[in-house]
Amino acid sequence: MAVDLTPPVWDFHGGLHIPDHKALSADRPVVEATLPSRLQLALQQHIGKSAEALVKAGDQVLKGQLIARASDYVSANLHAPTSGRVVEIAEMPIAHPSGLSAPCIVIEPDGEEHWAELPEPITNWAETDPAELRERLRWAGIVGLGGAVFPTSVKTNVTGRAVDTLIINAAECEPYITCDDRLLREQAEEVLEGARILRHIVGASRILVGIEDNKPEAIASLREALSGDDDGIEIRVVPTKYPSGGEKQLIYLLTGVEVPSQGLPLDVGMVCQNVATAASVADAVLRGRPLISRIVTITGQGVSRPGNLRALIGTPVSELIAQCGGYTPQVHKLIMGGPMMGFALHSDAVPVAKGSNCFIAASAEEAPDPPPAKPCIRCGECVKVCPAYLLPQQIYWYARARDFDQAQDHHLFDCIECGCCAYVCPARIPLVHYYRFAKTEIWASERERQKAEHARRRHDFREARIKRLEAERKARLRKKKEALEKKSAGTSDDPKKAAIEAAMKRVAARKAAQQNDKAPGPQGDN
Ligand code: SF4
Ligand code: SF4
Repeated sequence: MAVDLTPPVWDFHGGLHIPDHKALSADRPVVEATLPSRLQLALQQHIGKSAEALVKAGDQVLKGQLIARASDYVSANLHAPTSGRVVEIAEMPIAHPSGLSAPCIVIEPDGEEHWAELPEPITNWAETDPAELRERLRWAGIVGLGGAVFPTSVKTNVTGRAVDTLIINAAECEPYITCDDRLLREQAEEVLEGARILRHIVGASRILVGIEDNKPEAIASLREALSGDDDGIEIRVVPTKYPSGGEKQLIYLLTGVEVPSQGLPLDVGMVCQNVATAASVADAVLRGRPLISRIVTITGQGVSRPGNLRALIGTPVSELIAQCGGYTPQVHKLIMGGPMMGFALHSDAVPVAKGSNCFIAASAEEAPDPPPAKPCIRCGECVKVCPAYLLPQQIYWYARARDFDQAQDHHLFDCIECGCCAYVCPARIPLVHYYRFAKTEIWASERERQKAEHARRRHDFREARIKRLEAERKARLRKKKEALEKKSAGTSDDPKKAAIEAAMKRVAARKAAQQNDKAPGPQGDN
């Protein structure tokens, strides 16, 4: 199929052209995953604070029912993906590089799929206040589905900031992953409707959809969905190069605008949203449905029938693998996410989360065990490919030496962890591990600093309160003492009272005088 490829005017620094391996699953239409025997829903499915459970073991729940409430501004609601019974709330393993456990709600489906009462659809969204629409996204528990898992209601809260462009990220630049490609081929209209709603929420005037040229069917589907009327929406096709899907890289590719170091797209009047997020926004606003499922790519040479499945959040990965025909004898590793930014799982008995876009059952050829790292030879290859204009080998030295101040001075926090540097490093140094380690240490010490600051403020406040109470007590005592002194001095400030007292004294004196007159005089001559 011929593609109307409009070459972007801009090209970001660095990046890589790597085999995309998308053919394994790109032509597999999305199928509904079978209802699993149990669903395990982690309370933390997003960046920010964990949600707070609203149910307990033994409770019956309905599909779409709110089962855990956002506990803070940066937090997200969680809903029951199907009807059934809560059987357990406990710490369980989740998809995490360390094999970490986290509090989860476990639901045993009843197979009935009974829906809870849902909020009314907002069909007149164009006339609806953005704050009300944001509230709907917050209720629906929508987070960034491209992997960032940041609550969408927070990201779209642009109050007081001018936004002119909404970027819809359809680049899907990581090898192997095809869930966004399939979504666009099959539901481009839904994605564009969600994009229009998001544009209204953030007050942008235009929408730019950025998509790599290795997805010709999705591009055609998007163009068709625009139905000739461009409606302020432009489809921009960019050459395939990793990591085009990085927010800053995509913004530069599409507009030539650079987001400042440690800045946000909002700082240059833009907001970025992933295509699957846009589709879930449409679902929440137009049908009142919460985010309870997502498309997941199951791929790699280690699975019999790679494909794309719409899975309920909480579905065990093992059940998706089974639905894809199970493992092949070549399976060597199970990776969540893409091969560049993803991580190996310890087990497939972990659940699909809102941010789980792909699981790769990789063969040893696809994901070989890394050879032992050698010393850095300062070849500079990592610098050439870094799309964030960093000096990866310098940051590596500082992270290794635990010199975190220097690492930050070398813009550690601009690193998007794309892995390009590690991919080209001839010494096979796991560079990204060092950056993650340094970031984690810095965040931990910042949390400690904030805790200490909080404790110091509480101490100062307590001291001030004790002093104030003591001063008040002393003032009360002083007043009491003064009043007593006045009383004992017999003085009165009240002139009326003083006049009465004086009159009483005069009467008493007169009475005493009369008594004296009546008294018998001295014995006279008798
Ligand atoms: S690519 Fe590897 S060996 Fe070369 S400078 Fe960077 S860290 Fe050192
Ligand atoms: S992982 Fe970080 S340092 Fe390495 S290339 Fe990507 S952005 Fe640059």
